[in-house]
Amino acid sequence: MKERNFLDRVMEFEQQLESMQNQFRDLIGFVAQMTEDSHSLQLENHHLRKRLEEVDGQSQTTNKRQHRKKPNKIDVGEGVDNLARLYNEGFHVCNVHYGGSRKGEDCLFCLSFLNKQNV
Ligand SMILES: [Zn+2]
Repeated sequence: MKERNFLDRVMEFEQQLESMQNQFRDLIGFVAQMTEDSHSLQLENHHLRKRLEEVDGQSQTTNKRQHRKKPNKIDVGEGVDNLARLYNEGFHVCNVHYGGSRKGEDCLFCLSFLNKQNV
């Protein structure tokens, strides 16, 4: 009777180990996915920063005569120009995927957004 009980517990323990192993595998998969996402976000961020520096440099030379603007405020025309350029560089400007890479594909959200701004 005691032996039987012991065997049951060993088997139960084995099942628990198996289930933990599965959870652990899921966890590893999750971490791998996160690492991949993080990497591509870092790349994207890097591209966007570079692009922003370029755009910033350009707008600062054009606006040298004007008084300084608040950092987060760009006038609408210039903003749309930069967005169109960003789009042409291969990034989303739509609010659905904003800042994400278009991966070489056209995006209808972006296009309709840009069209709306140009009217
Ligand atoms: Zn888009």
